[in-house]
Amino acid sequence: DILSNKIAAGEVVERPASVVKELVENSLDAGSTSIEVAIEKGGLAGIRVSDNGHGMASDDALLSLERYATSKLTTDADLFSIRTLGFRGEALPSMASVSRFELVSRERGAVSGVRVLVEGGRILDVAEAGAAPGTVVSVKRLFFNVPARRKFLKTESTEMGHIADTLLSVSLGFPDVQFRLLHNGRVLRHLPGGGSFIRAVDVLGKEVESRLFPVEQAGAGIRVRGWVASPDISRSSTQRIYLYVNGRYVRDRSVYKALFEGYKGRMMTGRYPVAVLFLEVDPARVDVNVHPTKHEVRFSDGRSVWAAVRDGVASALSMEDR
Ligand code: ADP
Ligand code: MG
Repeated sequence: DILSNKIAAGEVVERPASVVKELVENSLDAGSTSIEVAIEKGGLAGIRVSDNGHGMASDDALLSLERYATSKLTTDADLFSIRTLGFRGEALPSMASVSRFELVSRERGAVSGVRVLVEGGRILDVAEAGAAPGTVVSVKRLFFNVPARRKFLKTESTEMGHIADTLLSVSLGFPDVQFRLLHNGRVLRHLPGGGSFIRAVDVLGKEVESRLFPVEQAGAGIRVRGWVASPDISRSSTQRIYLYVNGRYVRDRSVYKALFEGYKGRMMTGRYPVAVLFLEVDPARVDVNVHPTKHEVRFSDGRSVWAAVRDGVASALSMEDR
């Protein structure tokens, strides 16, 4: 019902950047190769995510707005082998309960698309619509019916900063997908697909290009790949560290610690690690279902993860000494 969706919205949708994250993850789960994120006024006025993914049939589009309706889990066993980014079926109903929400989708091969309009959790209209294959979700007037939340939002430029950070971090995990970020009609970022090195340079900055060393480490049940650079100026100790577990962006303290161990003897005051690390772990041996925003993970074999990260980082950085 509308009230429980509104409560869930508080957990899943904290600010415009969380809406962007959930929508972009849905687009990626739908196999999109090109995703555009168009923001109005820091997301306070509008957020629109368009993709060229597999789209939804009319009945699936309606179903997607029901809480816990996810197309991504079919058996209990799936919960332990999560490969897709979404799996809770909470994001769309949550955001639709606290905004003016519009979904337009067309399945590949379908003759027409569908348009669903929801306001504050109430479905106002469902109609056939002409549309390109793929999905466009538009979220306007976020938190219009939750004044306490609305008040908590920061300035347009702060919210826009969070949105850009979120999009960049998600984009690193999908380096062959093209992303465009627009703000008030102006293109802020264009990230062409082109592989993990190009994406890492686009996100970390051109100045690290010549100092990025590849990480390639295999351990028991784990593989670590990515890029590291010697310590550089950062806003905080972890601001320029991007960690992914099976393609999912995480902020995991134990992995950060292992990474810092790999930097041992190289740290300088005011400078911090610059790294993009992709951990590939057997999905059955990692639990991503710790928190709705899914930033933390639990490994069943923390020790081998720790060793692989530390050793992979240390040996990549040692290339600089040669
Ligand atoms: P979850 O991602 O956890 O399954 P969501 O509420 O984010 O839950 O989405 C609900 C469902 O709607 C998804 O499982 C998927 O079937 C469908 N869906 C959402 N966004 C898209 C999209 N961009 N393209 C295709 N299907 C989508
Ligand atoms: Mg989702």
